Amino acid sequence: MTSAPHLHDFRRIVVKVGSSLLVDRAKGAKTEWLAALVDDLAREYARGADILVVSSGAIALGRTVLNLPAGALKLEESQAAAAIGQISLARLWAEALSGHSVPAGQILLTLSDTEERRRYLNARATVGKLLELRAVPVINENDTVATSEIRYGDNDRLAARVATMMGADLLVLLSDIDGLFTAPPQSDPNAVFIPVVPRITAEIEAMAGGAASELSRGGMRTKIEAAKMATTGGCAMLIANGKRLNPLAAVAGGERCTWFLTPSNPVTSRKKWIAGSLEPRGAVHLDAGAVRALRSGKSLLPAGVTRIEGAFERGDAVAIRGPGGDEVGRGLVAYDAADATLIAGRSSRDIEAILGYSGRAEMIHRDDMALAGE
Ligand code: GLU
Repeated sequence: MTSAPHLHDFRRIVVKVGSSLLVDRAKGAKTEWLAALVDDLAREYARGADILVVSSGAIALGRTVLNLPAGALKLEESQAAAAIGQISLARLWAEALSGHSVPAGQILLTLSDTEERRRYLNARATVGKLLELRAVPVINENDTVATSEIRYGDNDRLAARVATMMGADLLVLLSDIDGLFTAPPQSDPNAVFIPVVPRITAEIEAMAGGAASELSRGGMRTKIEAAKMATTGGCAMLIANGKRLNPLAAVAGGERCTWFLTPSNPVTSRKKWIAGSLEPRGAVHLDAGAVRALRSGKSLLPAGVTRIEGAFERGDAVAIRGPGGDEVGRGLVAYDAADATLIAGRSSRDIEAILGYSGRAEMIHRDDMALAGE
């Protein structure tokens, strides 16, 4: 795969937001910008994707409150600024997400939380539980206790670590540049924009040297490092310009950005696994329209299901059968057989009223599905 994927292809997305996007030194938080970004995130969330945020801005917000002079801060000063700013940062996210009835959960990580196996497993379990509860984890480095030697230091790499820890399939770095160029675009008129990086070669790494333009800690170099961490962990990465409002909608609408693809596409190996090695526990029967929708790349919605067969649990493999009973594919079903029977043929909007809880809009998400001949 060397063409650019689409945002809606991904089921677990980590979005990293840089300080300069979220905080104006003179005026403080850019709430209008944040509200627009959260509108974008809420759209992905509503289709069933898990959303995680890695947000910088604690130090920048804190130094605005403290009125600290411009220029580099000493470690203790930045820690004090982070202690003050992190409260506002968490509140900004919680308020913006609550506008969409999405709960936010604050997670502050130190380097050892992800480097020590036991703590890594613990952090992963907590973040995993938040996602299961359909909350959005809002993550930052725990700057107040990090020391200069033992810290991530930049949120690009922290975000990549989080993405691989949580098995995300996409990491989005919102930056103040469009993406990667062959040379610094400000100084080189021949600089060419690179929309897709299938593999991070030495040549790509060399490009990172000069193309940074950010004021915050992470330049293009940390972004390429993040891309290496993410893609080898099976997670694609996207660098997009966050300076505009609704930056994700802009990407979906075709604005230029740089995609870093994974050599080992986890969706593909997962699909192989679903297609090849599982004994289906039952079947969902579809109408012809639903079969067509699946073949055009859509998820299976309850509306297209005519009948449920077998006794399966949520997450079990089931056969997907067309109107004539032929097996169209296989997938991991998001409901148990009893609930699937209740919502079969019904609109996803009615799921909550029928079942008494708001489950996934899809009966089988396309990422959890392998179609014959795919
Ligand atoms: N953790 C820092 C903060 O919240 C930002 C680090 C970065 O921008 O990479 O202020």
